[in-house]
Amino acid sequence: MAIPRFWREIQSRYNLIGTKCGSCGKVDFPPRAVCPTCGRRSVGKMQRIQLAGKGAVPDGGRGPPHLAAD
Ligand SMILES: [Zn+2]
Repeated sequence: MAIPRFWREIQSRYNLIGTKCGSCGKVDFPPRAVCPTCGRRSVGKMQRIQLAGKGAVPDGGRGPPHLAAD
């Protein structure tokens, strides 16, 4: 039997994919295209990672962006 489509959509939405900055190493969830700490320096360095679903979601990733810090 095929896996019902709704289940696959749920899997893709809740499988705890985050991003890790290749510049400073900060892990963000949900995934970001740009590191809020590094800004432009992180472009192209963000790595997708699986957060393993064991409470590994970082707590400090929700601060306001500081993209204009420099
Ligand atoms: Zn960074």
